[in-house]
Amino acid sequence: MAAHKIAIVIPCYNEEKVLPITIGKLLEILDRMSAQGLLTSDSFILCSDDGSKDNTWRTIMELHLSDSRVKGISLAHNRGHQYALLAGLMTAKDYCDAAISIDADLQDDPEAIVEMVKKFNDGTEIVYGMRARRDTDTWFKRTTAKAFYSFQKTMGVEAIPNHADYRLMSVRALNLLSEYDESNLFLRGIIPQIGLKNDIVTYDRHERAAGESKYPLSKMLAFSIDGITSFSARPMRMVFFTGLILLLLDVFVAIYVIISILCSDTLEAGWASLILSIWFLGSLILIAIGIVGEYIGKIFIEVKHRPRYAIRDILFD
Ligand code: UDP
Ligand code: MG
Repeated sequence: MAAHKIAIVIPCYNEEKVLPITIGKLLEILDRMSAQGLLTSDSFILCSDDGSKDNTWRTIMELHLSDSRVKGISLAHNRGHQYALLAGLMTAKDYCDAAISIDADLQDDPEAIVEMVKKFNDGTEIVYGMRARRDTDTWFKRTTAKAFYSFQKTMGVEAIPNHADYRLMSVRALNLLSEYDESNLFLRGIIPQIGLKNDIVTYDRHERAAGESKYPLSKMLAFSIDGITSFSARPMRMVFFTGLILLLLDVFVAIYVIISILCSDTLEAGWASLILSIWFLGSLILIAIGIVGEYIGKIFIEVKHRPRYAIRDILFD
């Protein structure tokens, strides 16, 4: 069977330190695989610079000069990992048969690319990279990530467990992905919805090769809320059921109050329960409004249909 042209897409935000190491490693893998006939010799790497503030773009240009298989796009400003990745994938899809997305920091073992491409050559359209272990991550990162996956699951989001954005997608899958023009982008939730023949490759997660994480807790939290509210209306239903249960409880309280009045209990006891229930219901109402507001915010952003990224430069020949 003829080898395919593969693109490796890397979102990069302030990655000047790690990029030369990463590109060196990936080029070596591409060389080895093309020698084995697993992919064509013009397979390439596309770096998607997410409006970095350091010398990332210059580093990409230098790497391009020393090996033209290194290509680049540069976003006009920092839009976040998901958008940088999408911009890269949508640019690459016109030039390749399949694209693999991987982070710039080599935390995800690049050797898994070999298995991914083999599966693609055998006819799989989407290959998910799945972490076998993550004991090199900090305790904090591991625990928060675990909570993130299980919370999402309870909230009704179908995502592949222990899979971040390390995956291979065929051009057909990429074209289908391009039809999703929502602004709240959560690729991990969208891609399983595409369907097509898919498979999993497991790998071990390493420590960052250089530089530091661009995902502080605040960004992770925002990401997980986006993931849930972009895909599921279950939080709203949960509020509804809470209301229903409270209504039932209220009936019992009402019965208790009527009986108390008939037995002429003291006023203080009634006052206390009244204040308590006002505070209790007040906070529940606030939570409910907050959740509804989250969805209205999403609708607000979607109806604007703004372009999701703007490419400033293209390094492609
Ligand atoms: N990244 C990006 N834009 C951002 C933040 C991160 O393109 O605003 C890229 C970053 O360069 C890296 C990937 O997203 O290639 C994952 O980021 P990082 O490794 O910092 O996250 P972590 O692995 O710590 O969750
Ligand atoms: Mg990382």
